[in-house]
Amino acid sequence: MDGVVRVRRVLLWVGVILMLAIAFGSLASLMHRVRWGSADRQWIVQGGSGRIVVIWNGKIYRGVKPGWDHEQSIMYWRSNYWFDMIRLRNGATTGVVVPSWAVFAACLMPTGVVWYRARKRRPWECQKCGYDLTGNESGRCPECGAMVKARDTTH
Ligand SMILES: [Zn+2]
Repeated sequence: MDGVVRVRRVLLWVGVILMLAIAFGSLASLMHRVRWGSADRQWIVQGGSGRIVVIWNGKIYRGVKPGWDHEQSIMYWRSNYWFDMIRLRNGATTGVVVPSWAVFAACLMPTGVVWYRARKRRPWECQKCGYDLTGNESGRCPECGAMVKARDTTH
């Protein structure tokens, strides 16, 4: 397996695992709320109800303690799951809302590109693993053992 194929495989796995984790986290967030507050109480990151909220002016939320906090919450649907800003009454922006599907999509897109590229093989590459089969005479890929079609072994 050459370096590019190996890197692609690792990227694919990382992408798939991340997407599974995000999908699972999104489902879990319908019943759980997880919150993290920084030690100086400036930053708050909260996940729940399919959304991630990041607040960078956390001091105004007096109930939020530094460190991790978890509570069960009943699932409720919002009218929309889109990006949003959190504003104070004076209009200052104090945080952002990121829907979890957007995080999922942010992983899906590069993973999809890597997957698509990994699938597209040149004629002289092993159709299974991408190994360069130029000059191959055994009829079998030395890397993965797949059978090779004779016409595929010349450039
Ligand atoms: Zn192969």
